[in-house]
Amino acid sequence: NLSNPLLLSRYIVQIASECAPVIKAGGLGDVVYGLSRELENRGNCVELILPMYDCMRYDHIWGLHDAYKDLGVPWYGGEIKCDVFCGWVHGRLCFFIQPKSQDQFFNRGYVYGGNDDPMRFAFFSKAAMEFLLKSNKRPDIIHCHDWQTGLIPVMLYEMYQYYGMERQRVCYTIHNFRHQGSCGNEILEATGLNRPEYYFHYDRLRDNFNPFALNLMKGGIVYSNYVNTVSPHHAWEARFTDVGYGLGHTLEIHRNKFSGILNGVDYKLWNPESDELIPSQYDLNNMAGKAKNKKALREKLLLQDSEKPVIAYIGRLDEQKGVHLVHHAIYYALQRNAQFVLLGSGTSTEVNNRFLHEKYFLNENPDVHLEIGFNEELAHLIYAGADMMVVPSNFEPCGLTQLISLKYGTVPIVRGVGGLLSTVFDRDYDQDHAPEKRNGYVFYQQDNKALESAMERAIGLYYEYPKEFKQLAQQGMECDYSWKSAGSQYINIYEHIKNIKYEF
Ligand code: ADP
Repeated sequence: NLSNPLLLSRYIVQIASECAPVIKAGGLGDVVYGLSRELENRGNCVELILPMYDCMRYDHIWGLHDAYKDLGVPWYGGEIKCDVFCGWVHGRLCFFIQPKSQDQFFNRGYVYGGNDDPMRFAFFSKAAMEFLLKSNKRPDIIHCHDWQTGLIPVMLYEMYQYYGMERQRVCYTIHNFRHQGSCGNEILEATGLNRPEYYFHYDRLRDNFNPFALNLMKGGIVYSNYVNTVSPHHAWEARFTDVGYGLGHTLEIHRNKFSGILNGVDYKLWNPESDELIPSQYDLNNMAGKAKNKKALREKLLLQDSEKPVIAYIGRLDEQKGVHLVHHAIYYALQRNAQFVLLGSGTSTEVNNRFLHEKYFLNENPDVHLEIGFNEELAHLIYAGADMMVVPSNFEPCGLTQLISLKYGTVPIVRGVGGLLSTVFDRDYDQDHAPEKRNGYVFYQQDNKALESAMERAIGLYYEYPKEFKQLAQQGMECDYSWKSAGSQYINIYEHIKNIKYEF
């Protein structure tokens, strides 16, 4: 049935700064990979363009080879030569851009964190466009993500459409409004977007609050054919509350092309029935494996064996994630006779040091383990072995940790914001879902007492009503947060923008 847009196939290029598992700092990487796989499964041709970081997991790339030698990327009136490599990341065709310049944009042992991050990713965006142009790739849709690629639609509309790319359309997905790519004029000069006074206009890239800065994410919003964030509730929050970090007004102006689409989880990578990174696979009807994973987790992290529940936190240690509540959760768990496992890496030295200090302080305690760093393999074991997962975020555009936890039968305890509110339904208080559809615990205020009340209910159920606790975990495993629904919604957007005239 060719009139059904879901059955048509299209050529989609994803341009992003992360793709799991080869390079991942957070949920963005999971989403880029998972969405690409879903789109391919639906018969679309999908390619990805990524920076070639030195710190990638090269063991996850198959068949890496030269794709384009000496690609000349115009930069500051001259050019930087790049080599483009090509390889498969668990079946997805990826192109990696490696600039040959003294700037060493992607050879620094980190993904983000340089003072010149806007310049690094402006260069990546420019190089990606130049690669599309010179290799004659003319996708129907360019799908780009977060501030790092906000300049793509700007350059497409202002320059590349005149070089023969007038039919390409852009879908722009915002995973986190907090980081917007604030920068100065030099980005325009570098990328060849001449006429600074034109771009430094409030209708275009000028930051809504800092009149001296350009805002790359704002550029992405203004110039893309469609913009979305990663859950419907967060789309509302971004427009009407302070979690839009100053972009609410811009979203309001562009509201007709803005919405929220809930992320999915790639159940091929995240599935306790088939997960090869955990010692014992298990499923809804046979949960014995989960107990074995709990034992393995304890052995690995040198926690004492006991009847206690294991409560976990996995995530960036960042203000966004409610670090003060994460910190409190550790001590409250210990006080309530539970064990605690934390896996996280700090995005600031201050927060990192705070947790390193805590780790040192709790070193001898047999009921707690804090692992500071990024460790994909350990994350799988924790999802599988823990009984509960705390996600006390200040704001959360979608949140994947609670979705993965649900799949692994690990009961989420979350703060009711953004995507957390759309996916976790309180066992005791949710009015909108029947008791058999509820899957966790939700609290709302940002203080210790609120967190404690939810943790207390969860730990209480674990000790007093173990059967009911197990049932709650199983109800979580029954939820379907796969990519199916999001896949159809993105395809509808692609179809919608394919046919509209490109103007803003
Ligand atoms: P965000 O994108 O804000 O960081 P999400 O909840 O959307 O948060 O996604 C986090 C993803 O990153 C999940 O897949 C989680 O398992 C993973 N993750 C976060 N921190 C770590 C870590 N220290 N080690 C391993 N995986 C991590």
